[in-house]
Amino acid sequence: MIVAAWILVPALAAALAATAWRWSRTLGEVARGLERLAEGRRSRRVLGRHRGPLGRLVEVFNASSVEVQERLTRFEEDRQQLRVVLGAMAEAVVAVDARRRLLFANASADALFGLDASSVGRLAPELIRSPPVQKAVETTLRLSHPDAYQGELALPGRESPLRSPPRVLAVRGTPLPGNPPSGAVLVFHDVTDLRRLERMRQDFVANASHELKTPLASIKAYAETLLDWALDDEAVNRRFLERIDEQVDRLNALILDMLSLARLESNQEFFEHGPLRLIPVVEKCVEAHRDRAAAGGLALVFAPGSLDDEVLILADEEAIRQIFDNLIDNAIKYTPEDGEVRVACSMTPSAVVVEVSDTGVGIPREDLSRIFERFYRVDKARSRELGGTGLGLAIVKHLVSSLRGQITVASRPGAGTRFTVQLPRALVPAVKEG
Ligand code: ADP
Repeated sequence: MIVAAWILVPALAAALAATAWRWSRTLGEVARGLERLAEGRRSRRVLGRHRGPLGRLVEVFNASSVEVQERLTRFEEDRQQLRVVLGAMAEAVVAVDARRRLLFANASADALFGLDASSVGRLAPELIRSPPVQKAVETTLRLSHPDAYQGELALPGRESPLRSPPRVLAVRGTPLPGNPPSGAVLVFHDVTDLRRLERMRQDFVANASHELKTPLASIKAYAETLLDWALDDEAVNRRFLERIDEQVDRLNALILDMLSLARLESNQEFFEHGPLRLIPVVEKCVEAHRDRAAAGGLALVFAPGSLDDEVLILADEEAIRQIFDNLIDNAIKYTPEDGEVRVACSMTPSAVVVEVSDTGVGIPREDLSRIFERFYRVDKARSRELGGTGLGLAIVKHLVSSLRGQITVASRPGAGTRFTVQLPRALVPAVKEG
């Protein structure tokens, strides 16, 4: 009996120690697996067969770790997708927490507000130093779901690293869940160009109405006077009818210019651009103005330089005619008697250059950048008196751009004005006539 106990006790102790060691190894594996899962990493399956509660624990751990890993993978995929979508958005998206710390900014927000990867976690008011943006954030943080803040704000241009122009932004702010909200998401949509176009359209309608009203008012006044008393007064009736005729011509010129500009701006103008010899077309335009120049006591000079007639550009003859008719017509209109209008041609390796210069009244420096705008005139009364519509240079600018050319102007009040048109040369050989 004593011998049996002497053998059994150590055997039992050894078996118990072996079991305890297996249990502790399995529990250690489960603990390490849980730690890895908690860190968002993958965990290996725990092996080893156990019965009872430990067996059940291993089973549940293995099943849950597969489930958790699948969820983590799906979560990571969703996160990546969201990043790509937000990164591709033209709108700037910014998220802040309740303490105004930056949680997220997409690529457009980085570009708009000058942010980068190091901005996340920093205070938004320090990163985006714009009172209207801060006001949008604060207002949104005071809202509760599902309310949203909507507004429009002006963002001054940044000085560095590169000077950026001022922008107009439409903003929509949505509070994050929570009461008070745990943060806010703001979406900024750049509407600068849209607002500028709206303003241009409004200005155009106001200007066009005014321009149409002026000759109409004259026509109405002359017609009323004729009907009242002047119809049978031979001394004045013819003169009044001539004035009406003049104003109708003016209205007609204005409407034709407006239609031409509208077609050009909507790309409906039908020009067939093909290889064209520029010099003969410019010369024809000059000759068409010779009588008018002579009547105004002006010298009209055409100087083709050493340019030969064969030099080609890619254009439509009618477009070229409109450009130079307008420029030469203006030069004659704004040059007093005894002056000179000169049309000179030259060439660079890639372009043909035509200069239309005059010795006329000139254009003040502050007006130079605006004369290509629709209806802009330095001296309204003078332009109207000379039959101008205020649209000629806007049409010229459009036509030159449609030919991929450039137009510039230089002027000195009292000394004269020079318009320089550069048109790219065509590399196609000319089709010889005859
Ligand atoms: P307009 O029909 O009034 O001539 P344009 O669009 O052709 O309109 O020109 C716009 C304005 O630019 C003119 O009203 C005039 O003030 C100025 N301008 C254009 N060409 C000349 C020029 N050669 N000399 C002086 N001023 C000019």
